[in-house]
Amino acid sequence: MKCIVCGINDAYKFGLCRDCLSSKIRLKTEKMEITECPKCGSVRLNKKWYYNSIDDSIKRNAISHIKTEKVDRIKSVNTFEILDDEILMNLIVDDRNLGEVEKDVRLDLKATKESCPVCNKFTGSYYEGVIQLRTFTTEYDGILDDAKKEIVDFIKHINKTDPNSFVSKVDKLREGLDIYLGKKEDAIKIDKIMEHDYFSTVKITKSIAGRKDGKDLFRYTHLIRILDLVKGSVIYDKLYYMVKSITPNNIELLDIKNNNLLNLNSKDFFRKSFDVIHRIPEKDKFIIISADSNETQIMNSKNYKIMTVKQLFDSQEIYLYKYNEHYFSL
Ligand SMILES: [Zn+2]
Ligand SMILES: [Zn+2]
Repeated sequence: MKCIVCGINDAYKFGLCRDCLSSKIRLKTEKMEITECPKCGSVRLNKKWYYNSIDDSIKRNAISHIKTEKVDRIKSVNTFEILDDEILMNLIVDDRNLGEVEKDVRLDLKATKESCPVCNKFTGSYYEGVIQLRTFTTEYDGILDDAKKEIVDFIKHINKTDPNSFVSKVDKLREGLDIYLGKKEDAIKIDKIMEHDYFSTVKITKSIAGRKDGKDLFRYTHLIRILDLVKGSVIYDKLYYMVKSITPNNIELLDIKNNNLLNLNSKDFFRKSFDVIHRIPEKDKFIIISADSNETQIMNSKNYKIMTVKQLFDSQEIYLYKYNEHYFSL
């Protein structure tokens, strides 16, 4: 059966061909404007920048530029094509009388290019916060490189969903690393990560960076000190202590004189004013020769000197840590 309207094409539904059915659906379109950032590909639609799911955002915006008649509604988008000055779509429109009808639509498009606010920040080496990574001893140590990698990876990860989170630069200094951050809130997140992963302390200071819209703009400096001592390091604060163990939330110290153990969390440790006597421990390897119920005979593997210690060991070889010609088992 031929179409009852045009008499040319085959009838498809209600005696009408697809073309004639489609022409019963009336849609009005408005011109759409889109601004694309040439650097990162983000787009601005209705004054708002979109950095993620860009294609979906454009599609949704395009549909909002199509007006259907009263009760008709756009059910889905079959095809979607963006050209220089137009958008071509094939839609399924749900019409009260005709049901689902396919409809081709064309939108006028005005596309412009403009650098987005995030890329503007980048190029202006914008930053709101600085992480100053330092060691406890103030000497540069590889532990700072590990921490930096963790920080940069973390910011890269959150940058996927928040383009304002970025590292604008990293300065390597004699005493540590300065990491410049696009977003001040990220510095607080980094503090938490560092406190979780390292025996460390954070001090935050703020300074005025300028004024914007009648308000002071602040920049935040987070000084993060990471403990760079190791097992066997010797420190002093009224008494001499040897480091027995370090975890991110606890340091165990051996009071050398009284043979007492002292446990401190990072807050209490950094509140005291320890001096570093020896960061690099002096340690010697010993071989177990014999043991009785409470003593062990051990031999220094370097000079073969034998000594007796009032302690029992599990293994055949042990390390003892030396300070002032005395050995300590940690
Ligand atoms: Zn027809
Ligand atoms: Zn951009």
